[in-house]
Amino acid sequence: MVETVWESRATRWMLVAGTAALAGVFLYLVGLDQGDALSLVQGDFARDQNLLHEFFHDVRHAAGFPCH
Ligand SMILES: [Zn+2]
Repeated sequence: MVETVWESRATRWMLVAGTAALAGVFLYLVGLDQGDALSLVQGDFARDQNLLHEFFHDVRHAAGFPCH
């Protein structure tokens, strides 16, 4: 029997780890970010603008994340 790349244990662990990392980043951006993520590219202006916070604002409230 030929083992495909998707059946190897290392690949499965990388998929699990990658999915968990992406989920963590997504949860941070949707639920917790207060402008810090975009400040990496926009500087302090991102904290004033708080674009991701405003974009995900209703989702935050619906999901029960602390907001303001
Ligand atoms: Zn709010």
